[in-house]
Formats: sequence, structure tokens, C-alpha cells
Amino acid sequence: MGRKFFVGGNWKCNGTTEEVKKIVATLNDGKVPSQDVVEVVVSPPFVFLPLVQSLLRPDFHVAAQNCWVKKGGAFTGEVSAEILANLGIPWVIVGHSERRALLGESNEFVGDKVAYALSQGLKVIACVGETLEQREAGSTVDIVAAQTRAIAERISDWENVVIAYEPVWAIGTGKVATPSQAQEVHFELRKWLKENVSAEVSESTRIIYGGSVNGANSKELAGQPDLDGFLVGGASLKPEFVDIINSAT
Ligand code: PGA
Repeated sequence: MGRKFFVGGNWKCNGTTEEVKKIVATLNDGKVPSQDVVEVVVSPPFVFLPLVQSLLRPDFHVAAQNCWVKKGGAFTGEVSAEILANLGIPWVIVGHSERRALLGESNEFVGDKVAYALSQGLKVIACVGETLEQREAGSTVDIVAAQTRAIAERISDWENVVIAYEPVWAIGTGKVATPSQAQEVHFELRKWLKENVSAEVSESTRIIYGGSVNGANSKELAGQPDLDGFLVGGASLKPEFVDIINSAT
């Protein structure tokens, strides 16, 4: 069974009600392959999730950008996985590098979040990736393996997990990884899954790339054998997101 191409749009902390409506209208008009060919998920800030959900075409789905690490309760400012599930939000992004770096989310904390979100029936886009310093020190594979291991130690079912490989040096910088740089890490991640989880999980788990993906570079990246889609930041707010979706075929 092939891995279905996956394109996620991470809107980060952007948008007004008017802008959100405009982005959704553009997406709704976009001519893209059917959902049997490509799975499309957009991730607005929490407060816009119900609006986007109500306006978005039925073949596209929404994701939250984060959730709390365990059952909700007295955690001011947080949104729990069960609240997202109650709202019918199918997906959540966990472990984005901006949260790891700015909010101090450790590998273990991210692993706990992935496990809890899955336990509440959410599907998870789990982000991993090295900094420029780590890449230059030659530790890219060790870093992404450690981030993946902290997840693997806490879950047994990978069916609802997509791994997003997002090198930190490529995020929001315009410095996209070359197709061969991305393929190399995706290959190593898949190998890691085979050796440490199972051949089946290695074969079936989608590993998507994120970091300065745009309408001009997505097609060549999409041609790499171990690259199963994208997590797109800046360009997901623009009409070219439709072109990125179309790089699935
Ligand atoms: P970018 O962000 O496409 O703007 O580089 C990607 C991400 O952070 O998911």
C-alpha cells in the first residue's frame, strides 16, 4: 500500500477574521487532486478553528497547532486534546520547533503529548528537526532519532501519526533543504523506524518535509522517494498553497 501524499498548512500565529475567510475561499476554489490522492489539512490558530471548520471544503480538514500534554483541568491558557476532539478537530500538530525552542518543550514532553493526543482519538503531526549548529556538528540523524525515540517509547500504534521533518535552519528562512538533503534525513528516519519500531510502521508512516516549501520548489522535493508530503508555513497563507498541494501528482 502506498503512502498517501499529505500537505499541511501551518498558519502559525497569523490572521484576522477577514484574512482567514479569504484564505479559505481561495482554498475552496482550488483545483486539486481528489482526497484519495492527497490529504490536505490546514492549521489556523485555535480561535479560528470553528470558523475554518465551518467554511472549509469537505475534502480538506483542520488541525490545531498544539494541545495540552494531559487531561485538561486547572491549566490556564491551555487547550486539551479532549476539547479538540469534542469540537471535531481531527488533527493536531505537536512538537513544532518554535515551541521546542521558545517554550522549552523537551523530547519527553512532546512524546507525552503525542501519546495523550492519540489516546483522545486525535491524529498527530509530530515535528522533528535539527538546528544549524547540530547539522554542522554532524549530529542531524542523532537529533531526529532522539526526538522520534521519545515518541516511539510512548506509543504503540503509529497509524494516526505523520512525522514532519523540519530542519530548524530552513523554517521561515527561505533556505529550503535541497531535495537530496531532505531525502537523506527522511531515509534515515524510515530506517530508524524499521530498526526500532517495525518494518510495517517504517513502510506505512508518512514522513513529510517542512521548511521554506513554496510553489516553486515543492515539485522537485515531492519526487524524492521517502518524502510523503509537506508541512508548509508562510506559503500556506498564500494562493500558491494550491500549487504545493498539486505537487502530489
Ligand atoms: P515555513 O514554515 O514554510 O514558513 O518555513 C514551516 C513550518 O514551520 O512548519
